[in-house]
Amino acid sequence: MHITRFAPSPTWRLHIGSVRTALFCYLMSKQSGGKYILRIEDTDQARSTKLNEESLLEWLQWTDLHWDAGPGKDGGEWPYYQMERLELYNKYVQILLESWKAYYARETSEELDEMREAMNKQKKPFHYRQKEYTPEQLEWYKQEWRIPVIRFKIPVDQTVTFNDWVKWETSFDMKQFGDLVIVKGDWIPTYHFAVVVDDIEMWITDVIRGEDHLTNTAKHIVLFEAIWADLPRFWHLPLLLNNTGKKMSKRDDPADVWLVLVDQFRDEWFLPEAIINFIALMWWNPWDEREFFSLEELVKAFDINRVQKSNAVYDYKRALRFNGEYIKRLSDQEFVQRVKDYLYLYGDEQWKEICETIDNDYWLTFAPYIKVRMQTFKQFEQYCQYFFLRPSTIDRDMVNKEKMKITEDIVQSFLPDCIEVLEHLSVQQWTEETIKEELISFIQAKELKNWQVLWPLRAILTWVEASPGAFEMLFVLGKEESLVRLKEYHNQ
Ligand code: GLU
Repeated sequence: MHITRFAPSPTWRLHIGSVRTALFCYLMSKQSGGKYILRIEDTDQARSTKLNEESLLEWLQWTDLHWDAGPGKDGGEWPYYQMERLELYNKYVQILLESWKAYYARETSEELDEMREAMNKQKKPFHYRQKEYTPEQLEWYKQEWRIPVIRFKIPVDQTVTFNDWVKWETSFDMKQFGDLVIVKGDWIPTYHFAVVVDDIEMWITDVIRGEDHLTNTAKHIVLFEAIWADLPRFWHLPLLLNNTGKKMSKRDDPADVWLVLVDQFRDEWFLPEAIINFIALMWWNPWDEREFFSLEELVKAFDINRVQKSNAVYDYKRALRFNGEYIKRLSDQEFVQRVKDYLYLYGDEQWKEICETIDNDYWLTFAPYIKVRMQTFKQFEQYCQYFFLRPSTIDRDMVNKEKMKITEDIVQSFLPDCIEVLEHLSVQQWTEETIKEELISFIQAKELKNWQVLWPLRAILTWVEASPGAFEMLFVLGKEESLVRLKEYHNQ
């Protein structure tokens, strides 16, 4: 049974790399009937914000990765915010102090800077080690009201070797690390200490996190050992690179990076299930060629041993393709509902009015034609007004295409007869097949090429470059509306 945890710090908005970690924790625990815990690591008080914390929870819920235990859901490990667990850390600090594995260090940050600089001048790295203070120094510090920190004594003679389960065995010579601050002057523990205590206290069996934590793991292991606790398994997931090969991270400025935050994906009207599928496949290779997995299917198919060892490359086009596929798979009713949800959320007043006033049956009529053509719902807002509105101005350049031998003269030469042919069809005859049959014979009779008629018809009805075809549009818009649009073009 695997007990995993996703432990975000509320210092950033939810990034797709973090969702990847949460997803793999979720999948591993679900597969084994274990537990997936959400823990909020908010000890970095200077950078943690309530706003980020709320947004983390909101967006995790949006992705459907519901935690078994965590904020709002006690699974026996309560509390789940590190700032509410301070007493617990204190208990462990006492153990380390009493066993001489941790000590009070009293330098000010200015003094530490000087020490660092002195070493730099000698071209040596600076590693803080325990100092013996004279009684006079201690007295002076006391009078100065200096507040000490607590440091953990790094076992410098040790080489820590551990098996990273994603990659390979890794070794760290501990001499390269200075003694670790585990509790700051304000009695708040640092990340390194709190994470170890919580992983012990929450019985975590598998620590899954980004590769950027690999060096931290060496420090954590010596802390685990100092507390005489069993080690969890460590899985370090490769990084995410953008298509120029540069590392993408939660520290990237969102303005510089195209769609890496989960909320940006929603703002672009993506479906969460598509994002989850896209993220899973960026880091994990299924056994076969299959690409599309629902969350339930991922639980069955996912194999953490097949997580890629090399860095993942972000491919926005693939995200779009995945989203398009998920839109296509929606039932017509669900498609309509979700488009409307988005229009209510992001659309302008006109769209909201359309959602409220246009009969649902009409939405269901065009749904099958349009859902196969879209990659995000935003495209619906951008390009699909033609289902509801007539063009405000007639764009003849859209209709006439020199290269396709479609000129205004040709269009005007067949349009009146074409309107007449369509006018002869009764409302009952107004089906896609009949329209098609009639128009094809009309085109043949006129000795024109199909596209010379169908492109202009489609363009006149929709006034956009891409839409369902002419037969489909005529059928969806219905006889009356189609003829109004065609006549308007002809008469203007
Ligand atoms: N709080 C850490 C972070 O947001 C996660 C640490 C971990 O998973 O161990 O990077």
